[in-house]
Amino acid sequence: MANLLKVGALFKSYKDFETALNDYCTEKSVLFRKVSSISVQKANAALSPADTAYDERLVYKNLTLRCKSGNLVRESQSKGIRPNQWTLNIQCAGQISLCAQTVPQALRVSKLVDIHNHATTKDFAKFYPENRRLKKDADIAQVKGMVLCRGQPIDIRDHVRTNLSVCMTTKDLANFRRELMSSQRKASNGEEDVIKEMNSLLETDPGAVVGIVTAEPTASSADADSTQVAPLLNILFFQTSSMRDLFLKFGEILGIDTTYNTNRHNMHLIVFVVYDNHKNGRVVAFCFVRRERRKL
Ligand SMILES: [Zn+2]
Repeated sequence: MANLLKVGALFKSYKDFETALNDYCTEKSVLFRKVSSISVQKANAALSPADTAYDERLVYKNLTLRCKSGNLVRESQSKGIRPNQWTLNIQCAGQISLCAQTVPQALRVSKLVDIHNHATTKDFAKFYPENRRLKKDADIAQVKGMVLCRGQPIDIRDHVRTNLSVCMTTKDLANFRRELMSSQRKASNGEEDVIKEMNSLLETDPGAVVGIVTAEPTASSADADSTQVAPLLNILFFQTSSMRDLFLKFGEILGIDTTYNTNRHNMHLIVFVVYDNHKNGRVVAFCFVRRERRKL
């Protein structure tokens, strides 16, 4: 219903305008975004008691939207350290301006520039970043599953374009994957994975030695990063049976090497090393320790 959006058109609420704008953008294959605004709250606060206040549903006293390809031109602040930056701004003149009125309470379209200096086709519009995002929950779940199954990015991209009609690029998928992995890491402190891995080691190598010391989380550790689960692991020691054989064979002198802050819980990694008859260092045990000095 693109004809709803024309100079002088009145909308009883910002929501009504938004619906008309979405229809307009879909029909014309263009995309507008807000570049400047004054809220109704701010405008009402400046009114004298005798004035009629603007309806809260209008949201904006003044609002200007520009075509995605035509934002306001700003002087470049570039220092040349990011040479590969680019912009969709090709100084398109497309613009929609609105102002609120109190009699009757409405948002009025005061300006509509419907001339664009670029293609206004569906093929052009679908490559705007806003149109390359997955919006439906079912689509997001589907792509999540494909990413977690380690599908090839180019295959996932082709699937998304063909079956979900969203023109994601492989770069978009890389960003999607990074955000997904980041949210999964925050949801777990990784210790369950460690315990699972140790159980698997004991199953495949019954002669292995695994030692785990846990502790109740302290208030300070829980407060340190509220987005993560507080860690419980204080010490993790493990030695495979082949490591123990090496220690029994060459364990006259034991080297101990410590590396600090080896994981995101800032645990220390202690490596126990012996030297074989070729003077090569051989690891005979690993130990992660949360604190070296304090008694646990
Ligand atoms: Zn434009």
